[in-house]
Amino acid sequence: MKKLPIRTCIGCGCEKPKKELIRVVKTPEGQILLDESGRMNGRGAYICRDPECMRKAIRTKGLDRSFREKVPEDVCRQLEKEMSGIAEGS
Ligand SMILES: [Zn+2]
Repeated sequence: MKKLPIRTCIGCGCEKPKKELIRVVKTPEGQILLDESGRMNGRGAYICRDPECMRKAIRTKGLDRSFREKVPEDVCRQLEKEMSGIAEGS
């Protein structure tokens, strides 16, 4: 059996195969985005394709910890919105 890369969701803390998670990236320009391709430059964190996990990551400061800075509230809201769109589409 092939070993899958495992990552931890910054929302619920579950360990899952990387391909089941979505990457959140902080670009070299300092933007925080959902990276559906998983190939963007920058510091990354992983999260379930679930708006609930995004809310948890915001509430528990998982996002802030991952990027070592306070993530602004409007950015959090945008990420939550994007995640809702992705979750609905899959
Ligand atoms: Zn999760």
